Amino acid sequence: MSAYECAHCGAEYSDTEEEAYLQHLADKHKDDLTRIDRKHIDQHRGIDLSNEPSTKDLVLQTAIITVGLILSGALLYMFIL
Ligand SMILES: [Zn+2]
Repeated sequence: MSAYECAHCGAEYSDTEEEAYLQHLADKHKDDLTRIDRKHIDQHRGIDLSNEPSTKDLVLQTAIITVGLILSGALLYMFIL
């Protein structure tokens, strides 16, 4: 008996092949995965199944742009004076 059996196609993986099993799910059944499957894969492999940028990245980008604007604004102000 296999430790991991794919619920979608029946592919079997031993208990040492959890990563291969999760990778299989991500590769072959990306569109059929339940929310729990996705979470499981995310936690184990760091596989990003969504194409949406993470909120963390957006916050970071916004912060960098804001700091950049403030700095260039300050430089411009110094030049004008
Ligand atoms: Zn499968």
